[in-house]
Amino acid sequence: MNTNKIIIVTAPSGAGKTSIVRYLLQQHPEKLAFSISATTRQPRADETNGKDYYFLSKEDFHQKIQNNEFVEWEMVYEGKYYGTLFSELERIWNTGRIPILDIDVKGALHIQSRFPESSVSIFVQPPSVEALKQRLESRGTESAESLKTRVNKASYELSFKDHFNFTVVNNQLDVACLEAEAIVTRLF
Ligand code: 5GP
Repeated sequence: MNTNKIIIVTAPSGAGKTSIVRYLLQQHPEKLAFSISATTRQPRADETNGKDYYFLSKEDFHQKIQNNEFVEWEMVYEGKYYGTLFSELERIWNTGRIPILDIDVKGALHIQSRFPESSVSIFVQPPSVEALKQRLESRGTESAESLKTRVNKASYELSFKDHFNFTVVNNQLDVACLEAEAIVTRLF
């Protein structure tokens, strides 16, 4: 197995990419590992530092930008930074597994252009922007303001779907999971 591969799963927020990534990791823990991003946003109630994200202060995040420690980083939302550390990819490659990145569309485009040969990208498409709004509302993790920001951004991000290697439409989660699994298992 060539371990220096990268799987990118990208989508507008609320399209269900995190559920698909979780499914892939559960099915193939010996082949895949979640790439833990760094972020400056606050942890949610059920999130753990070093598992869901590396939660950093803005100062620490900026220091890592200065030190060129990021493969890519973005201000995904106003004042909130997210990025993938080289050290994280190395950590996973060193265990003989393939990192799976759950990142926004801009970050995914960056990684793709940086690793054109070794990355495989999957764009998770929500059935519609309205469906995505309902999904975000029922998740209940966003304030009204944050919900609005995410829905507006989603419409824009949908226009990039043709830049990625594969599109999986998330009409029905179990079907979408199987489609994504068929794509990634070809890499093993
Ligand atoms: P959330 O705040 O809901 O955890 O994530 C917000 C968005 O940031 C999601 O679309 C998520 O995929 C994206 N994201 C998470 N980690 C990274 C990263 O390392 N780089 C980029 N560009 N986006 C990320």
